Formats: sequence, structure tokens, C-alpha cells
Amino acid sequence: MKFAMIGAGAMGLRYGILLQEAGNDVTFIDTWQPNIDKIHAQGGAYVSRDHQDRHLIPIKLETPETYHGDPDMLIFFTKQMQLAGFLKRCEHFFNDKQYVFTCMNGMGHIEKLQQYFADDKIIAGTALIATVLNGPGDVDFMGKRGAGKMNMANLTEKPDEMTHRLFDELEKAQMHPTLTTNFKGTLMTKVIFNSVINTLCTMFEIPMGELGNFDKAYDLGRQLIDEAYDICERAGITLVSSRDEEMHALDINTRIDMPLHYPSMYQDMIHDRPTEVDYINGYIAKLGREHNYEAKTHIFLTNLVHLAEYHRANE
Ligand code: NAD
Repeated sequence: MKFAMIGAGAMGLRYGILLQEAGNDVTFIDTWQPNIDKIHAQGGAYVSRDHQDRHLIPIKLETPETYHGDPDMLIFFTKQMQLAGFLKRCEHFFNDKQYVFTCMNGMGHIEKLQQYFADDKIIAGTALIATVLNGPGDVDFMGKRGAGKMNMANLTEKPDEMTHRLFDELEKAQMHPTLTTNFKGTLMTKVIFNSVINTLCTMFEIPMGELGNFDKAYDLGRQLIDEAYDICERAGITLVSSRDEEMHALDINTRIDMPLHYPSMYQDMIHDRPTEVDYINGYIAKLGREHNYEAKTHIFLTNLVHLAEYHRANE
């Protein structure tokens, strides 16, 4: 298949390179000049796994303005606050036959994609695949080959032939996809998961194991989970895990699966970039307001993360 990978950061490079290695034609499109310059100068991106075996993988990288291809599918891996800008700059190569796919964290991206693409062309999902951009043109695929897993669903909740082709390519790329027919529930379950781990670890700049091993980790998580689940019940969203299953997943993920990993929101904080908190805890709070529920803890946490961002900006 012919892919345009929009956003050549940590996740764009990981998905794009693995899809390329699985036999697909992938062109990366990015706007961050230091990344573009570095990848062009070195003839590709350096890839390592858990800081080991760093090697160069040749890739094709363009800017939105220089790209004039006609891909079957566009994959978006930008940060939530960058997406509108990318869509505007890439619009000239969009057409009504193309499909779009994304596993971005948070919520807010789907409405933006709908401004450019028909609902039956939008596929989105969630990725439990940890990846770190060490710097321009240098990415670390955390975990062994085939580590991590992901979910995907059609916005229409009706998988078609293209959905199955994408699924097969992601499977060949060892992304371990699961295809579901619960679009909003799949995405929101991950938003809620991130609203605990990403936010708390980022605020205190701690690895996930430190949160998981803290003796009040259950209480902290439970309060956020209960609030978010109450809101989703009011909003009529059927989440894919029960509250207890979500608590169990948080525990296993932090303590057992990725104790040394810092979530992607932390990467933004330490590089003095804005975090996606408004699209995670902030989105849960917004959904609550739409259903007459004040998500006090999520609002408080959103403000605390902004305080941490403000503190770093003034250091
Ligand atoms: P990223 O920040 O690595 O890359 C996104 C874009 O930002 C790219 O265009 C990249 O070139 C640019 N960029 C990177 N560093 C920059 C800097 N210092 N200054 C300016 N621009 C910079 O983002 P990502 O980690 O690939 O995340 C993309 C989406 O996937 C997000 O929604 C994220 O939450 C989600 N996600 C990430 C992970 C992960 O482990 N990284 C896992 C699951 C989901």
C-alpha cells in the first residue's frame, strides 16, 4: 500500500518504518525544520531499540509543500495541537478516495479530520506502543521487536475492505492490531487510561513504575477513573473495559510492563513543549460539562499540569 505518514516524530517514524519494512511504500511528511534537515543530511532516520543497536534506516521525507503524491492512506501522528496546522498545509494533496488513520492520544483530532475527510474514510485507534524521539532524526523503539499492541475502529463502525487491508499491513508490521466496532468507547478508554498515567507521571517527572509502586496509586487512579466513567455513562459511551479492568490495566502497565518508561506527555514537558493535557483530562472535563457533571479532579489536574508548564517556562 502507498502511505503518507504525516508527522515524522516518535510514532510517525515507528509506524512508518515498520510499515516500510513490511513492504509498503511510505513517504514521511514533516514540518519541524531541525528534523527535516537532519534526516536529509544523514539520508534517513537512526533507529534503536531500548538504547541498543542504533542504525540508519533510509526514508523518503518531504514537507507538505513539496509533496504531490497520491497515497491510498494518510496516517497522522502529530501532537493534538499541531494537527490543524498540518491539515491546512497538506490539504492540496487530499482527495475523496483517500483513507485516513491515526492513533494519536487524546480527543479533539476526529472533529478536525472530519473537516477534510468523509466519515467512511476515517479509521482511528489507540496505541500501547512506547516510542521516544531522542532528537531530530533519531528514534528509540522501546521494547523488543513486536512489543506493544493497538486497537483500531472505523468512525462509521463498519469495517470495509480498506480497513482489512490496513489491519493486515499493521499485523505484518508486528503492531498487533485488534479491530473493534466501538469507535468512541475504544478511543475514550485510552483517553481515561492516559488521564491517570501520563498526567501524574508528567507532573512529578517520574517513570511509570514509581507511580505504580506508590502505596496510594490505587486511590489516585480510582478517583480519576470513577469521575471519567461517570461522565462516559452520562454521555452514553460504552467503554471497552470495566472500572476494575481499567484499574488492573493501569497497575500492570505501570508496575510490570513499563516501569522504567516515561509517558509521551513527559517528553513534551521536559522539552518545554506544550503538553496534550487539554485533550486528555481537559477533554474529560469538557465532556462532563456537556452532560452537567463537574469533573473536579480532572479540572484540578489539568490546571496543575499547566502550572508545571508555566513554572518551566519561567525557570
Ligand atoms: P512527537 O512530538 O515525537 O512528533 C510529533 C511532531 O512533532 C512531529 O512532526 C515531530 O517532527 C515534531 N516534533 C518533535 N519534537 C519536536 C520539538 N522539540 N519541537 C518541535 N517539533 C517537534 O510526537 P509522538 O510521540 O510521535 O506523538 C504523536 C501522537 O501519538 C500524539 O498524540 C501522542 O500522544 C501519541 N502517542 C505517542 C506515543 C509515544 O510513545 N510516543 C504512544 C502512543 C501515542
